Amino acid sequence: MEHQDCIFCKIIAGQILAEKIKETPDLIVIKDISPQAPIHYLIVPKKHIKNLQSVSDLDQELLGSILLMAKELSVDLSNPQEFRLISNNGASVGQSVFHIHFHFLAGKQFSE
Ligand code: 5GP
Ligand code: ZN
Repeated sequence: MEHQDCIFCKIIAGQILAEKIKETPDLIVIKDISPQAPIHYLIVPKKHIKNLQSVSDLDQELLGSILLMAKELSVDLSNPQEFRLISNNGASVGQSVFHIHFHFLAGKQFSE
């Protein structure tokens, strides 16, 4: 269900534009508006869940589909086919959009 004032729900509903990379019945993959690497995608479940601390056992399949999507995205990377997958859970560790999402980062050398 769409949540009022949730930017990712608005993107999923088509009310705000985003560069869409992939879409499945349960997920969208968009380019991050403020990329931190040459490839910076966001894997976003269509279901509004605040973050990983708000998931339930019913979300098991959805959570698995996020990891499988990361694998699928990596196939299109040029060498090395390597990536980072990050999820910020809570404002103190950098979560700014409170609709669960995973950052898929690639195309640069990460030092830490
Ligand atoms: P967080 O900080 O919650 O882990 O990640 C939120 C991410 O969403 C940030 O990297 C930010 O750049 C991105 N973001 C925020 N608003 C928009 C938007 O309107 N469109 C897109 N494509 N990305 C956004
Ligand atoms: Zn939402």
